[in-house]
Amino acid sequence: MMEAFRIDPNALQGLRDIALQEAAKGGGAQRIERLLGGETLRDEELVAVFLDREVATERLLELSEELRATDSLQIETFCPLYISNECDAECLMCGMRRFNEAMARETADDTVVKRQLDILSNRGIRGVALLTGEYRHGSMRREMLARTASATRGALERGFTHVLINVGSIEDTEYPDLLEGLPLRGDGAISPHVTMCTFQESYDPTVYRKFMGSAPQNPRADFERRVQNFDRAARAGMLSANPGVLVGLNPDLAYEMLALLSHVHHLSGLGLKVYVSLPRLRKASGAEHTAGVGDDDFCRLVAVLSAGLPDAKIVISTRERPEIQRRLLPVIGVLTAGSPGVAPYSQDGARFDVEASQFEVADLRPFEEILGECIAAGARIDGYQPAIYPASAP
Ligand code: SF4
Repeated sequence: MMEAFRIDPNALQGLRDIALQEAAKGGGAQRIERLLGGETLRDEELVAVFLDREVATERLLELSEELRATDSLQIETFCPLYISNECDAECLMCGMRRFNEAMARETADDTVVKRQLDILSNRGIRGVALLTGEYRHGSMRREMLARTASATRGALERGFTHVLINVGSIEDTEYPDLLEGLPLRGDGAISPHVTMCTFQESYDPTVYRKFMGSAPQNPRADFERRVQNFDRAARAGMLSANPGVLVGLNPDLAYEMLALLSHVHHLSGLGLKVYVSLPRLRKASGAEHTAGVGDDDFCRLVAVLSAGLPDAKIVISTRERPEIQRRLLPVIGVLTAGSPGVAPYSQDGARFDVEASQFEVADLRPFEEILGECIAAGARIDGYQPAIYPASAP
């Protein structure tokens, strides 16, 4: 059995330095030619392409688009559905953190969650990400895991084709409860498409400690436990993983890229399907607004990861403004649209109050309008079946 994933910051910093030296020497155009010729670049070479300012961002986007080259533009979507905005963790950049008194706390019960799934289903959505905070061991943790398990089953019963679970790190002993009642394949793996989502936010243990804290009673503080959550998920039979970096938390983007690439290689080696989330740091309730990463660097990051990880799906969300969504549409695998409020959906809209949400979104349009725009641009969208867009359409 493959060893659990570990981060070696010194080794990654060494590779980051090589990438910086290579980028300073130029050679980005040749590396692009090698990629287009079907070669696989080493991770530090890929990061050198990202860092090489002689390669225009538009060229990187074209590269990624050319490498994807299929007859049609194909993306996937899912909507976030927060079950609770309560949390026992203390992440400084997050509105849900335990000590944020500005946050209006809400938790949806099982009936409300199922009603929300009905609403999303009626509005054509077939993919949903279920989210809670992260809890210390005790009754709240058990209750939230049980509610997520029930919502997962409820979503699958309603015909959702992809359920993502974003509830923090889960122990080996807890996975059976979380996955209870899900159909299994002959080899014991989970048969429906259920993805574990655990964003490391930063793969630098020092940055992680600065934002996520280090107190032992803080359920989010254990860097290693979090980075190995997918290893436990795989042991429990899950076949799909969604790591992520909170882009802008650590200004050393080259380091984060190298760590993320090595995590994705590890997960692919476990046989998992991989989604890569790249949320950009945004304003959150009661938190200082950090400028984060500019549009150009963000587009370079998405383009290079999309080119370098052809088997993974790059996920962006409506944390991004419409013009960034449009610019990146040809190179992403997933665009998620929806609200980070708790049980926020109505038949024709959603609540977007930042005082009850994890963070602020940049695009408040109904998801029908956002996804409709993608369809008008020629995209086919897995996970979305409005009446005007039947699943059987060619
Ligand atoms: S990032 Fe997650 S674990 Fe941290 S405070 Fe926010 S909801 Fe809780």
